[in-house]
Order: sequence, then C-alpha cells, then structure tokens
Amino acid sequence: MIYLRPESITTKRLMSLLGILGVIISGTMELRFQPLGRWLEGHFGSPTYRVALDAGSTCPNRDGSKGFGGCVYCDVEGSGTGALRTGQDLSEQLEQGLKRVSRRQQHAGGAHGAIAYFQSYSNTYVETARLKEVLRVVEPHLGGQVVAVSVASRPDTLPDECLDILEELSQRVEVWLELGLEAADDDLLIKIGRMHTVDEFYEASERAAARGIGVVGHAILGLPGDDREGAQRTAEVLAASQVWGVKVHHLMVLKRTILEGWWRQGDVETLSPEVYVEWLADFIERLHPDQIVHRVTGESPPEKLLAPHWEVSKNWVREQLTRTLALRGTEQGSKCTTKAPPLFARESRPPIRG
Ligand code: SF4
Repeated sequence: MIYLRPESITTKRLMSLLGILGVIISGTMELRFQPLGRWLEGHFGSPTYRVALDAGSTCPNRDGSKGFGGCVYCDVEGSGTGALRTGQDLSEQLEQGLKRVSRRQQHAGGAHGAIAYFQSYSNTYVETARLKEVLRVVEPHLGGQVVAVSVASRPDTLPDECLDILEELSQRVEVWLELGLEAADDDLLIKIGRMHTVDEFYEASERAAARGIGVVGHAILGLPGDDREGAQRTAEVLAASQVWGVKVHHLMVLKRTILEGWWRQGDVETLSPEVYVEWLADFIERLHPDQIVHRVTGESPPEKLLAPHWEVSKNWVREQLTRTLALRGTEQGSKCTTKAPPLFARESRPPIRG
C-alpha cells in the first residue's frame, strides 16, 4: 500500500486529477447539487431570467426601529439596484428588464420567462396598501413573460396581512419570498447588525411555506467571527427549516458599509476562492437533497467592491465545487440529517434529476 503524504504537491496533484477523472467518469453534467437553472427549465420549460426591481422600501435596521446603518455588509442601496433613486419608477424598471429578456430570447431563438425580483430592502416592511401597489406592477405581465415573482424581506418583517397578499398572488403566479438567515448564530446575528434571531427565521420560513410560497434562504460564508464550523451549522439550519431555495455567497466588503470601516482597521479577513470552495462543499453536503441552490457565489459591481478581488469566474466556483464534491465522493445532502423535504419542494418538485 502506498501512503501519500496529504501535504505533498504530488499528492495534491494526484488527488486533483482523480477528482477531475471522477467528474468525467460520472458525466461532466453531473453537478452534484441541484442548481436553479435546471429547476427553472424543468418547471417552466424554458430558460428564465431575473429582472431586479427597486421598490424604494426601507428596513428596520435602517430606519431606527431596530438599528441605524443597516447590516454591516449592506450598502445604502439596501443590497439592491438603487434604480428608484435614479428616477426610474417601478413599471419602467420592469418594462426595461423585460425588453432585455426579450432580446436574449431573440438571440437564442426560443421563449424566455422572467422572474420579477423585488430585490432591495425589506419589501414587506410597508403598509399593506403599499405592498399591493408595488405588486400591481406585475399584473399586466402575468400569463405572459412574468412566470414568477420573488420578494425580498426579513424574518421579522412578515405580518400575516402581507402573507395574505402574497398567498393571493401565488394563486395566479409562482411566488417566492427571500429571507436572510446569513448565519445560524444569534450572537453573530447581533454582531453583524441583522437584529433578528435564528428562531425568527425558522418561524417565518414555516409561516410562508404553509401558504404555498417558495421560501429562499440566504447565507453568507466567512462573516467576521464565523468559521468553517459556522458555515456547516448555517447549512444545517437551512436544511431543517422550510426553505426550498438557498442562495449562498462569500463575504464581500463593499464601499459605504459598516464593514468597510472594520476592514480598513484590519479587523476583517476575507476568504480566498480555494478556501471558500472547501467551505461551500461542506455547506452543500449539509443541505437537504431536495433544496434548490439558487446561487453559489456572489458578485458586486467592481466600483463598489473593496475585497476580496478574486480572479476567478462564477463558473470556476461551480466547477471547483463539483470537483471537490467528486473528490470527496459526496453530493448535496450527503451529510444532511433532516429527512423531510421542505413543504414547497414536496408540492411542486419538478422532475429535474438525471
Ligand atoms: S435587512 Fe437587508 S436591506 Fe436591511 S440592512 Fe440588512 S441587508 Fe440591508
């Protein structure tokens, strides 16, 4: 038996080659996780693209109800496009976005659907009349280009009256609700200014899923004070919640955020792409096999990004994730301890495997 020292370069190369070989043998399209793109094609029968919308809401972390300045990593646009500030009203934003989707359709020569994505701030942190007014913008496009509506919110800004409105809309179009968990640690959630608890996340995801709404949970790996075990715990909480979709990305330091100050003082370290992929593989292994992975990496406009400056593409992250899982002989759900799939997946799971 040949013993290979794990730290030797030859061993690393050999292991990498074996991983690549494993990917090739098992088929290059075998991703070892459930990506959203494949789910969308299986569900809607065509490629589907997001149209990001800014409804000009706010959130309790910014207006003083819970805090000022926002979550430490969030910029003044509320993690969104900031389109409303530039004077573009909601219907204009949607019309322009749908035109962009149509142009893609012409290039590709097939039908493309669109997801109207109310991205910025917390969209259910408004009067019900305002939420109705905001959502009304999609009405002319239902049954046409808009095949799903996705609404970003927070676990602690989800009154029943808002869920009533979303549930009513879900009778006519697929509705998703995006909720940030970010990290499964109450102390850390206070430190990074989230100002909600893990239990509130569980409860909000259950209430929304019970209404037939697809809940998408967010996670950030590498938050200050978090570590590899923390990333694993976050995946375990997501797997045990009623989250149907998962978005995960690495910590990014953006200009005009609280994090910028911490980073300039040398108090924040960001992950290298190689380390991120290892943590990401741990994370994916602990998700439920029926959860849909909407995103495995993040990106930010270059003019806003302070760190990290990765010289790798989104595809590189996906490929390395697949290789790492192949090398480990694992896949999404390999280390999941939650048996039951989330409610929404049970109801609407399309035939996407294989
Ligand atoms: S809750 Fe969302 S919008 Fe509000 S500060 Fe945090 S990330 Fe930004």
